[in-house]
Amino acid sequence: MTTPTTPTAATRAAIALGSNLGDSLATLEGALQALAAATAIDLLACSSWYRSLAIGPAQPDYLNGCCLIRTTLAAEALLEELLRIERAFGRVRGERWGPRTLDLDLLLFGDLQRQEPILTVPHPHMLERPFVLTPLAEIAADWREPRSGHTIGELAARLGAGGLLERRPRPAGPPSMPALERGQPLAS
Ligand code: ADP
Ligand code: MG
Repeated sequence: MTTPTTPTAATRAAIALGSNLGDSLATLEGALQALAAATAIDLLACSSWYRSLAIGPAQPDYLNGCCLIRTTLAAEALLEELLRIERAFGRVRGERWGPRTLDLDLLLFGDLQRQEPILTVPHPHMLERPFVLTPLAEIAADWREPRSGHTIGELAARLGAGGLLERRPRPAGPPSMPALERGQPLAS
């Protein structure tokens, strides 16, 4: 039997955010705001931001974090929305793992497991990335990663914080630096 990807009710999902070009803090806060404003998406929680060493070609440090949402969208439609928000913030796809204004990755979508090039969930690299597991553990420590069967808290503790340079706590409450008001309209 195949796993249905169209949820009948709202599904909890985890998203990783990253940026290392331009004003990364404003971009990430703006991306949170765009998520919160998107149809059929409720923003539940946001981690701190972490400055982290880039992997891949030589490039500036990243700012990374994670958020939890609840959505009535199917996983494919949610990914489309993430790619749309990336484009709205000026993401141009260049070299693999090269610098980017905004990267939004779908980490977890309920307990869905799916392995296709267009969408692989859980995200194929999340378990080896401290800049994903450390922020995710702040907001989803008890969530059991479906492939490994371990909780995010356990996985984060085991992996450690290699490559993380600095933690920048976010103010509590909704995203506060509206990129939309700074002249970056969201094209659909
Ligand atoms: P990466 O984030 O690995 O550096 P990109 O952001 O350039 O790579 O994403 C390339 C493609 O990866 C996207 O067009 C998307 O279709 C695909 N993809 C597959 N699974 C996922 C996922 N879980 N989250 C985000 N993108 C994914
Ligand atoms: Mg990506």
